[in-house]
Amino acid sequence: MKKKIVVFPGDGIGPEVVEQAKKVLARVAEKGKIKLEMQEFPIGGASIDIYGVPLKEEYLKEAKKADAVLLGAVGGPKWDVVESSIRPEKALLALREGLKTYANLRPAKPYIALLKASTLKPEVIENVDILVVRELTGGIYFGKPRGIKENKKGYNTLVYSRKEIERIAKRAFEAAMLRKNHVTSVDKANILETSMFWRQIVKEVAVAYPEVRLDHLYVDNCAMQIIRNPAQFDVILTDNMFGDILSDEASMLTGSLGMLPSASVGDKKGLYEPIHGSAPDIAGKGIANPIATIASVAMMFRYSFNRMEFSDMIENAIQKVLDAGFRTKDIDDGTGRLVSTQEMGEEIVKRIE
Ligand code: NAD
Repeated sequence: MKKKIVVFPGDGIGPEVVEQAKKVLARVAEKGKIKLEMQEFPIGGASIDIYGVPLKEEYLKEAKKADAVLLGAVGGPKWDVVESSIRPEKALLALREGLKTYANLRPAKPYIALLKASTLKPEVIENVDILVVRELTGGIYFGKPRGIKENKKGYNTLVYSRKEIERIAKRAFEAAMLRKNHVTSVDKANILETSMFWRQIVKEVAVAYPEVRLDHLYVDNCAMQIIRNPAQFDVILTDNMFGDILSDEASMLTGSLGMLPSASVGDKKGLYEPIHGSAPDIAGKGIANPIATIASVAMMFRYSFNRMEFSDMIENAIQKVLDAGFRTKDIDDGTGRLVSTQEMGEEIVKRIE
């Protein structure tokens, strides 16, 4: 197997955590006899400092040619003052658009060794294993018309086409078939026509997946159920805005931002990144948790390369390191051994077998 991966370390702790993820990639490549070509480019603030733009066209082109893209994080106070059209976050939008990644996949699965890190009771979260499949390129965040009119009203448009709903629904059903065969579609079909249409299309798509159980929840009820009984969910399928909110809620079940990976996938390309930002408050201190980024590499093997064995290899190594008591500062409860970003990366690499 030969793979080209474009790496964008980004800003703040981005380069620190990506460095560890690259070591893991290299180790898996060695174990799995994968010929790995890695190219690295600046993005976000780091790119603004050099080129005056958050993402150079030329690097976007390279990303489009790659088999997968690994990203750290972008942004920070230094660039909060730049003109809005070249803000660091614009690079993320350009990447998602350029790679045509319309589905955001965010797992929330607590590690046994860290059950105490959650704000919920251990018995509520111990069997939780949720994958939120969020539509990423449509809905109210992109619908037109939008704007603020004469300082009198603000408006946005919630719109979804049949094609947009069909393709994200298929993604969710396919993901469920690799998991526990259960999709919960979340909408607000008691009020919104867009949601009524969403529900109708999801039901139509479901016919092709008879082994998958489908149910529907209103978004307000879903938000409540995620806290009340999160173990009832397998795949949660939802639109852009509801998914934005619910995926953050679900991720907090696990206790720490530093543990959570994500994938944004389309029909061909995948973008893999931790869900956290550039954490300027801890950047340069060597204390950031690299696990979210390393787990994003595991997702890359699962969703872009279809190599579950390598994905499992990485996830098992993370599990073993946590079971052995290694902790970065954000997940330290005083009982384990406190390690730096680099040490955490190295301990994980050692356990990849
Ligand atoms: P953040 O996720 O960067 O940090 C929130 C808190 O979590 C901070 O206290 C931070 O120290 C901690 N944290 C985050 N990741 C951690 C890790 N791996 N290990 C240990 N602790 C970790 O969110 P924020 O502070 O709201 O944003 C900081 C900057 O990041 C902003 O410029 C924001 O725009 C940007 N941001 C970028 C992305 C992205 O690149 N995808 C996402 C969110 C925020």
